[in-house]
Amino acid sequence: MLVLKFGGTSVGTPATIQSLIRILHDYRTQGKSFTVVFSAFSKVTDTLIELARQAEQGDAGWHHAFERLQTRHLEAIETLLKPDMPEYTAARHHISENFESLRNILHGISLLHEVSARSLDFVVSFGERNAAFIIAQAMSASGLATVFLDARTVIRTDAHFGSAKVDFEESNRRIQGFYKEHQNEIVVATGFIGSTAEGLTTTLGRGGSDYTAAIIGAALQAEAVEIWTDVDGVLTADPRKVKQAFTLPSMTYREAMEMSHFGAKVIYPPTIQPAYAKNIPLVIKNTFNPAFQ
Ligand code: ASP
Ligand code: MG
Repeated sequence: MLVLKFGGTSVGTPATIQSLIRILHDYRTQGKSFTVVFSAFSKVTDTLIELARQAEQGDAGWHHAFERLQTRHLEAIETLLKPDMPEYTAARHHISENFESLRNILHGISLLHEVSARSLDFVVSFGERNAAFIIAQAMSASGLATVFLDARTVIRTDAHFGSAKVDFEESNRRIQGFYKEHQNEIVVATGFIGSTAEGLTTTLGRGGSDYTAAIIGAALQAEAVEIWTDVDGVLTADPRKVKQAFTLPSMTYREAMEMSHFGAKVIYPPTIQPAYAKNIPLVIKNTFNPAFQ
């Protein structure tokens, strides 16, 4: 079993979603078994934080930004699915409900003029929940049997909102239980989010979808965790700043940990720990150049 995580830029537009679905079909043709973890569509987490801040300040502009965000998701459904498909109806229904509850929460925030870390985690959770649900439907419509996993039901954390600490014992048990029940489907999970024992929504820190992939990979003793992003692996320097930057063919967990602490943005630092503990390779792949090895 492989765990494949696709970040924001890989799910930025319907076209990039279609190309990642092609990658998944290739994997299936090659007989690989895998589960996928998705981040929110690119920039959506930032937008959600901004919406909550606007609502908190009583800035009615949040309504416009909210409508734009909803339209972006509904347009993704229109592009990826056709109205006569059951997946289209399922996606429309689910996403409209999500936006309805998000609107209510933002309205509450605007009345109170207050957004707690706890409410903010709930607000941002919609990014991953919407993206993973829509892509799961698009995958099914393309002929891949999928089951959607809202990771809040399996990733148990403490109540440190904004960067919650994972209870590995409970999370491993729940992850293993869920995957055991769905062996004949491709599990499509939300990155970034978890929940407390009381059922409150938490997040694992910005960039935390990588971490979700490693948590799932470690629980399932996966063959590898593949982080699909928009660069050819880990480069020696930021390619936007250093023209001669080149890809490192491989590195130890310790080197990866050091590089990410020194600011290499390719992977969220906590990701390395669960992979290291179970000796699971972390592979960086480029959605926009899948042939790159
Ligand atoms: N969407 C979240 C963020 O922007 C998590 C992630 O992208 O990994 O921080
Ligand atoms: Mg990311």
